[in-house]
Amino acid sequence: MPENETIKNPSGKIVVKAPANGSVVGEAKSYTFEEAKSAVERARAAQKAWAAASFEFRKEKIIKFASILMQKADEVARLLSRETGKTIYEATLFEVIPLIHLSNYFAKKAHKILKPQKISVSLFKHRASYLHYKPRGVVFIISPWNFPLTIPIGEVVMSLLAGNAVILKPASLTPLVSLKARELFDEAGLDPDLFQVIPGPGAMAGQIIDQCAIDYVNFTGSTEVGKIVAMAAAKRLIPFSMELGGKAPAIICEDANLKNAAKAITWGAFANSGQICASVERVYVHESVYDEFVNLAVEETNKLRQGDPANDYEIDVGSMTDPRQIDILQRQVADAKERGGKILAGGKLKEEGKMFFEPTVIVDVDDDAMCVREESFGPLMPIMKYKTEEEVIARANNTRFGLLGYVFSGNKRKAKAIAERIQAGTVIINEVLITHAMPETPWMTAKESGIGFVHSDEGLRHLCSTYHVNYDLINFPYRLCYPYQEGKVNTVKKVIKLLYD
Ligand code: NAD
Repeated sequence: MPENETIKNPSGKIVVKAPANGSVVGEAKSYTFEEAKSAVERARAAQKAWAAASFEFRKEKIIKFASILMQKADEVARLLSRETGKTIYEATLFEVIPLIHLSNYFAKKAHKILKPQKISVSLFKHRASYLHYKPRGVVFIISPWNFPLTIPIGEVVMSLLAGNAVILKPASLTPLVSLKARELFDEAGLDPDLFQVIPGPGAMAGQIIDQCAIDYVNFTGSTEVGKIVAMAAAKRLIPFSMELGGKAPAIICEDANLKNAAKAITWGAFANSGQICASVERVYVHESVYDEFVNLAVEETNKLRQGDPANDYEIDVGSMTDPRQIDILQRQVADAKERGGKILAGGKLKEEGKMFFEPTVIVDVDDDAMCVREESFGPLMPIMKYKTEEEVIARANNTRFGLLGYVFSGNKRKAKAIAERIQAGTVIINEVLITHAMPETPWMTAKESGIGFVHSDEGLRHLCSTYHVNYDLINFPYRLCYPYQEGKVNTVKKVIKLLYD
């Protein structure tokens, strides 16, 4: 999706307006490429001392940052809510608290996770190997607008703990909260060159990948832009991770607790106004419980309180963040209607010209409808009927995306068997969304939802270059070298036979 440039004013500043009410939230400087390049150079210079510092030193800065964030949790949540239109509840529980949790978790664990790892070898017993982890250097993070705190700053924290410097190019719709995070790092005493936020257009991020001395790209955003970024990075063999779009299916089996499932699914579809890569975007319900589930889901949807979340905790659904998403939702709803689909709740903007799209339940659509096939990234919940397990697994997998999947069943063994057949990085049973808030678990991808993964021990190691050292355990007479002799080959053959016969 092309960058929304309309928010830039001629002075080169990005003016951020609250999507919920149009008021100005603040301004951010938009970086030119030359300014961005010099930021990368400063980061590279600062990284050397940071990489050489002890884990304890780095840990202390991150713990300090997390504790300042805790003190300012309300202020940051309110800024997040104004900048994105999400509710204060979501800003606090989906972003601020998970970031505090992640920061403390990795600050305490990074040292252990990045300890050298021994590899035992079976054939050359007189030798041993280990892997060790070194910072990549300058990590370049490019982030989306839907979780402008927890997504990029989580990666900033992990990158810093691994000994890297970080350049962050936030989405142009939501640069303010990243700049706020930078301020909190100032208070924590972090060298300003080590982590820099450089708002600006997507094209500028592309130029950085093409021309600047960066060592790793951590991209989160749409599949379309992700492919462009991956190609640019590949041209220079710069390693990367790509966290891209999703179209998560939820399968509601006949033995599911329907009340719980309806509550969870409604939340999974409409939280953050449906603007979550992990949102429930397609619901498949067993035919025997379909009518009951649909009634429950509509009942849950009708209870939702939607409005400007600015000063009110008692709002369940806020506004959309990006006006371009509204066009997509309107097109998908129109397409569903043309195909005979019925809208049982919502289906339109709450008020023309405003950014509140009503939580929408759609039934009687087939799998070819746009709202079932393409990413909605908004509050649409198409609910379809299925007959057999084989059929529903095939339909759930019939997509180019593979980020999340959900299974609801009262039988754990059956739910796991279905989960293991869904082609998605993560499948969650009897719950929705929550694993991004569990820093121990990997956020993984399949198909066109991305490459690589973030969070978890492996996610932290991914932010490092991994090297292998092989060394001698005992003083062994040197035999593999010249002269070549049949006897040597026969000895090795005997050893192999002993090992595997
Ligand atoms: P986007 O792809 O439009 O933009 C993402 C970032 O890329 C922005 O910072 C943008 O400025 C930048 N960008 C744009 N053009 C670029 C270019 N040519 N080179 C380099 N950078 C460029 O995505 P968005 O609209 O901000 O976010 C919504 C998308 O993000 C959805 O598809 C959603 O599923 C996805 N997403 C995925 C995850 C995940 O973990 N998989 C998480 C959040 C969002």
